[in-house]
Amino acid sequence: MPDPTPADAPVITISQLSTRFGDHVVHADLDLEVRRGEIFAVIGGSGSGKSTLLREMILLQRPNAGSIRVLGVDLKDISDDAALALRLRWGVMFQHGGLFGALTVLENIGLPLREHRDLDDAAVDAVAAEKLALTGLEPEVGAQYPSELSGGMLKRASLARALALDPELLFLDEPTAGLDPESAGEVDQLVRKLRNRGGLTIVMITHDLDLLWQLADRVAVLAEGKVQGVGSMAELAQIEQPAFRKFFDGPRGRAAQERARSQ
Ligand code: ADP
Ligand code: MG
Repeated sequence: MPDPTPADAPVITISQLSTRFGDHVVHADLDLEVRRGEIFAVIGGSGSGKSTLLREMILLQRPNAGSIRVLGVDLKDISDDAALALRLRWGVMFQHGGLFGALTVLENIGLPLREHRDLDDAAVDAVAAEKLALTGLEPEVGAQYPSELSGGMLKRASLARALALDPELLFLDEPTAGLDPESAGEVDQLVRKLRNRGGLTIVMITHDLDLLWQLADRVAVLAEGKVQGVGSMAELAQIEQPAFRKFFDGPRGRAAQERARSQ
């Protein structure tokens, strides 16, 4: 489907977004813009509405008010056909992997291809194997079941599935959460590799200070229902307000900053 939006148009534009659960206000007139080709991160305290925001961007949840445009399409009152067309243009890596336990890794990666591409079994397996290799997993892993994989391998297999349809936009929810430092570093490298392939826009939710310092082009800080500020980590590090300081002060914040400097 041709994309009528110009190349420099934002990939995601959110304006005046409001979300409530009962009388608990999660987003209050929140505005946000994601540019084409950038690695954009959303950070904020627990319960600040990051996952809810992600679910709203990928049509899993509706806001109470406001507008969300993704890849030039307004999500409000979107038709089923238009929603399907959009889902084929983005990939999502969920926090807990979201792979089907009854399918092998290769079958999981091939699933979107089987459903949405006119390919025979051999061609599906070939593309799935290519995505598996891209994420650095050995070919043998393709025959294994999700329950047999370590946390780091699961994240990579889940990423391989998110990449199956060659998306323009990739959403990552806590891509390194729960991983040991070595596996987290491998996921870091993988995201870096994806960025270098060009053309892909990545939106990630993360607490991982190394990932933020080393890979994020711009970071949005979510608090009190709004985006309190957007900028590079170096820019945000200059801001004195408490909502920002907690990400930069303390031993972990400073150590990540040091590691990024010495890269
Ligand atoms: P974060 O990902 O930043 O930790 P969430 O987006 O998961 O935060 O949640 C934001 C707030 O909304 C939390 O207070 C959470 O309890 C509440 N919340 C999220 N989903 C629901 C839901 N389906 N029903 C009621 N409250 C919810
Ligand atoms: Mg969350």
